[in-house]
Amino acid sequence: MVNEEVLEYLENLIPDRPQYVEQMENFAKQNGVPIMEKTGIEVLLLLLSMQQPKKILEIGTAIGYSAIRMALKLPNTEIITIELDEERFHQANQHIKKMGLDKRIHTVYGDALNASENIKKFAPFDALFIDATKAKYAKFFQIYEPMLSENGVIYTDNVLFKGTVARDRSELTTRRQRTLVRKLDEFNQWLYTLDSYETTIIPVGDGIAVTKRK
Ligand code: SAH
Ligand code: MG
Repeated sequence: MVNEEVLEYLENLIPDRPQYVEQMENFAKQNGVPIMEKTGIEVLLLLLSMQQPKKILEIGTAIGYSAIRMALKLPNTEIITIELDEERFHQANQHIKKMGLDKRIHTVYGDALNASENIKKFAPFDALFIDATKAKYAKFFQIYEPMLSENGVIYTDNVLFKGTVARDRSELTTRRQRTLVRKLDEFNQWLYTLDSYETTIIPVGDGIAVTKRK
């Protein structure tokens, strides 16, 4: 999104993470696990530390990287995180346990599209972090937005999808990709039209939408 040179410059400014966290970053890179980008997570963590949410709901745990980063940044915050993929769910549990964060990070195994009854038990949430299947972003938003507390904020990752949302659709090769990009574009536009929320997209990492009640 920003040019290579600037990105490298910014990434080099970021302080080292705990060794275990850096090992997770390396594992993710080697195994194609789409954890948040380095500059993106920094911005998310900064915003969260300003917001100081007591409880966060994360949709899309993957191996637990972002949940662990949030828990380390916010020592009094509880995180509920849901993951659909069984193997990743187990990997996340291992990492969370290893970091001694299993008291504050509650992992849920399941599909966020039909887990609302289960998740509701943990509500209300002060922050909702959407970071799962991009084609379902609007659904996740609609299902979980009602569980937000009064000053709740919704953070959605990957909304610029490597810049593809801004590109001419005909340049995209597969139909699947075109559909996905169209859906994501519609989601972004929809966020900006909501009466009771205001949104801004921060073009950092893979694009983070920040949506706050008016
Ligand atoms: N937040 C993580 C990365 C998540 S990657 C981090 O930055 O560290 C997206 C994850 O969402 C994948 O592991 C995928 O299996 C999961 N996912 C996709 N659709 C889902 C759904 N409907 N419910 C729960 N998890 C889902
Ligand atoms: Mg992401």
